[in-house]
Amino acid sequence: MKLSKIATLVRPSQTLSISDRANLEREKGIDIINFSAGEPDFDTPENVKMAAISAIEDGFTKYTEYEGIYDLRAAVADYLERFNLKYAPEQIVVSNGSKHALKNAFTAIIDPGDEVIVPAPYWNSYIDIINMVYGVPVVVKTKKENVFKITVEELERVYTEKTKVIIINSPNNPTGVMYTEQELREIAEFAVEKDLFVISDEVYQSLVYSKKLQHISIASLGKEIYERTIVITSLSKKYAMTGWRVGFSASNLEVAKAIGNIQSNSTSNVNSIAQVAAIEALDNTEEEAEKMLKEFQHRRDYIAQRISDIPLISCMIPKGAFYLFVDISKLIGEKVDGVEIKSSKDVAEILMDKYKVAVVPSEAFGYENYIRISYATSMRDIVEGARRIEKFVKDHF
Ligand code: GLU
Repeated sequence: MKLSKIATLVRPSQTLSISDRANLEREKGIDIINFSAGEPDFDTPENVKMAAISAIEDGFTKYTEYEGIYDLRAAVADYLERFNLKYAPEQIVVSNGSKHALKNAFTAIIDPGDEVIVPAPYWNSYIDIINMVYGVPVVVKTKKENVFKITVEELERVYTEKTKVIIINSPNNPTGVMYTEQELREIAEFAVEKDLFVISDEVYQSLVYSKKLQHISIASLGKEIYERTIVITSLSKKYAMTGWRVGFSASNLEVAKAIGNIQSNSTSNVNSIAQVAAIEALDNTEEEAEKMLKEFQHRRDYIAQRISDIPLISCMIPKGAFYLFVDISKLIGEKVDGVEIKSSKDVAEILMDKYKVAVVPSEAFGYENYIRISYATSMRDIVEGARRIEKFVKDHF
């Protein structure tokens, strides 16, 4: 008996695997610092939990519209207006987190063999999701000198007759980099000229650390690019709702209908109770979200400074999201306990095994010589984790 080609291609999510490993160690009583998965340590706001409890008590426990309840889609449309995005509720589909929204979106637009341009460093799951729909990921390694942003010249270089989609992720996971309006305009022009779709992953659109730096959605830059962009977002990061699994896609009506049809035959609606909670999150949780954002900013400033103070390793200050992308290239080729460090995987392994700090090596994101630190964790863990990373460098180099 033989499994499918997809089953052999798809790997477990590396961010989740490392986080699971860290959590398992913690359950065993080991004091591990978990800088791996990007998951806010905050509890879901009280009003959101209460809305869910009321939904259960009111018996809101049956199937809903498979694209999501209308009021929720309307709330998402209102929310997206903050980013100059105008969608009717019918253009929104509520899915089980942004991964599911992405899988639906790719299923709706990709035929076997179609190529998807993925700028690296990328969020690890893109590659596996593209493989799952028989697409071909075409990875473009962006340059550090370009602050890890893809340029039109790079797009031109990899473009073929089979190119169908470009993925843009701003603010970016794992770098925290944000594209400017001008950069997005250039990419949009390219996409329009070549008749491509754009999947715009905007999961971190509200986690931006400067009032002057508004998140810009590529879909907001004109009618033509709006028509060919699928915006993906979720509630997980902004409202500390990772476990609720609520994500969205916003697109033109034809794509939205296709996504809805696909979902109607796979998962049906997102959990009815989570949908009610999602409306409450979007309508009444701004103050809480603002507080969490401030705290993330505080943590970012602290960890970025601490890492910058450690010799041999360095980082940029992320503009958005909640990750620090740390350059460890100067450690490559050095020896730890007689064994040569060959990659960031080796560094992550040593940090996990010997210093009990879980980080994600950049190979997971299609890039070499970096580690990703998620600072969506408690200040206590950030202080202690920074101390342990510093000790690792000082002990061996
Ligand atoms: N998106 C988060 C991360 O990159 C959560 C884990 C995952 O789904 O990858 O860490």
